Amino acid sequence: MPDSSSSGDRAHLLRRVPSVDELLQRPALASRSAQLDRSFLVNRVRGVLADLREEIRSALQIADDALDPASIEARILASLSVELRPSLRPVINASGVILHTNLGRAPLDPAVVEEFRLTATRYSNLEYDLFAGARGKRDVHTSRLLERLTGAESAIVVNNCAAAVLLTLASLARGGEVLVSRGELIEIGDGFRIPEIMEQSGALLREVGTTNRTHLADYERAIHDKTRVILRVHPSNFKVTGFTEKPDAAELIALGRRAGIPVIEDLGSGCLVDLSANAIQEPTVRESVAVGFSLVLFSGDKLLGGPQAGIIAGQKDLVARVRRHPLFRALRVDKLSIAALEVTLRAYLRADWNAIPSQRMIRLSAEEIAARAGRFLGELRPYLAELDAEADFAANSSLVGGGSTPAQSLPTHVVRLASVRHSAAQLEARLRASSFPVVARIEDDRLLLDLRTVFPDQEADLLQSLLAALR
Ligand SMILES: *Cc1c(COP(=O)(O)O)cnc(C)c1O
Repeated sequence: MPDSSSSGDRAHLLRRVPSVDELLQRPALASRSAQLDRSFLVNRVRGVLADLREEIRSALQIADDALDPASIEARILASLSVELRPSLRPVINASGVILHTNLGRAPLDPAVVEEFRLTATRYSNLEYDLFAGARGKRDVHTSRLLERLTGAESAIVVNNCAAAVLLTLASLARGGEVLVSRGELIEIGDGFRIPEIMEQSGALLREVGTTNRTHLADYERAIHDKTRVILRVHPSNFKVTGFTEKPDAAELIALGRRAGIPVIEDLGSGCLVDLSANAIQEPTVRESVAVGFSLVLFSGDKLLGGPQAGIIAGQKDLVARVRRHPLFRALRVDKLSIAALEVTLRAYLRADWNAIPSQRMIRLSAEEIAARAGRFLGELRPYLAELDAEADFAANSSLVGGGSTPAQSLPTHVVRLASVRHSAAQLEARLRASSFPVVARIEDDRLLLDLRTVFPDQEADLLQSLLAALR
């Protein structure tokens, strides 16, 4: 072992580092170079050499063979495969949170993707009217479906619900005031704050009422000639309980009508069908439209279960004003999202919940999940003794997630695991790092797996990842 602590030895070691050209001529790298972008390859060779020099300079113990061209070459090949590995990759969601914002919210069904595969991989009539032989609008592919499903006169689609709020306020309230109840000035995950979006739109926020109580008279008193919009925001991820009050939607809408001011609802989740039979109390878009909100704004990838999108539905004249704003062009959706949204919306017309995974997961009963958990446990059991682990299953709850009302949970059955070799936190981390990453939950120092959000065709991979983590 060279004594890397002496500066003379370090200089000697640095001189032994091979050149980029010498390395590029080695057989394995020379053969890879034909399939790789040249500057990417050279960048990786230089990167590995820079790391190596740094290790020598910082007087780390350098292994005897570390400077052999063959071992440097192996290091470069390893670095290349790390860089070429997909970054965005599938994860097994065993958390039981159906619309998990960090895990991509709503998954699409393979049949849905298959349905739009051809339009995605070929040219399409995205903005071309095949009958007129002239330029068309990309809105046509989703607008009519949205009108049918929400009862709205008109509907357009933008990048996400944050964009829908921004565009709507920029179009209808720039330079004027927007009334919002103090109890609805919310922040949703990852920095979506209603007051900040409003500022970006050029509208002035006028807070009304108090955090827990806002009366109709508070809105009434705040209205003046600069008031452009009354905005109601669904308090997606929190709940104010106790001594609370807010006006009925109908009262607020009547006030807006008397004053000639549109009353707009940022609904967030965008529930298209009544889910009360599944114990989910979430207002539907159709209800909001029917009660008379001028516009209703909602996401495409929350309860709707489609691709990321933001939908603006409501009165024709207002939708048209929003559509004409120059920001629409900057916030519009791409063709892949339009294709995915169209296919998802058509599945709603057929009430085909199997084509919408999040709807399918919401509709799974606790008994169906218990049966799957029991079978899964049966496959796991033979391995448990040799792995010093224990497992059982128990009643628990899944979460709808994705910014629907926080209390919305669904009864489920979870598989619970404990190991002598690893703590629950260690198991959870090992699962995340496994070759098929798994996101699980921890409760009472036990690892919990909720199969509600695990696709049946992922169960074999889940078992393999679990056995590897327990080892
Ligand atoms: C989630 C949410 C948004 C933001 O929706 P994105 O589609 O994520 O941009 C806006 N408003 C409310 C009330 C929400 O719940």
